[in-house]
Amino acid sequence: MATKDERRAQLTDVYREARGCPRCPELASTRTQVVFGAGNADADLMFVGEAPGAKEDEQGVPFVGAAGKLLDQLLREVGLSRSDVFVANVLKCRPPGNRDPLPGEIENCSDYLMRQVELIQPRVICTLGNFSTKLLRGDPTGISRLHGQAEILVIGARAVRLYPLFHPAAALYTRSLLETLQADFARLPALLALDPPEQPEPAATPDLARAERPEIVAALPAPPIAEPDRQATASPAQLEPPADEDEGADERQLGLF
Ligand code: URA
Repeated sequence: MATKDERRAQLTDVYREARGCPRCPELASTRTQVVFGAGNADADLMFVGEAPGAKEDEQGVPFVGAAGKLLDQLLREVGLSRSDVFVANVLKCRPPGNRDPLPGEIENCSDYLMRQVELIQPRVICTLGNFSTKLLRGDPTGISRLHGQAEILVIGARAVRLYPLFHPAAALYTRSLLETLQADFARLPALLALDPPEQPEPAATPDLARAERPEIVAALPAPPIAEPDRQATASPAQLEPPADEDEGADERQLGLF
């Protein structure tokens, strides 16, 4: 089994591969840069949004625009910050004009997301909005029906608790959606405090297969804010010097804590 440092190094390797990705010619020719994802490479909690927007494309970091500010606020409200979590998207490149991701683009890009999940090993994945929810559940049911209900799924070879949430961009201008999103976020500490889902046997890799019926967490009592088990303790400045300069630069771009 790979150590935490090995998984982190492998994640950096996946980023190096992704940043020159030619799989979607239109996206590759219109992007400023690939937005791979950022945060804690060993996070218990991962968020998966839709695709980078203009600001993300410019800065190379997911959720840095208005929706990102709301995500930061929602995290703060449950005692978390970006350094506790890893944030990624279904698509790693900005669709021109912020159009919806195309099915072929989602297919081309999904292998990066699967490798992120495999290497980060989150216990809980929050899908933000329809695109990531449909992709990771392998089912067309929409977010309005699913938000706030956790279920255990096997994604790639990892069993995780999947917790669909409305996309923060949808809650920016609709008060009732914001309140729903805040209420769903408030259940995250309880979800993170649950025992990790049992992992499938290494040989069994049922891609995106459903492991069990949805597990409703709405009725769980709200415990005090849980300390993530594997919470980051080092800031980038405290990390050991990188093996070579390039490695360090790539990790900083990834915001790996
Ligand atoms: N919306 C997303 O889905 N992802 C981002 O990174 C920014 C906005």
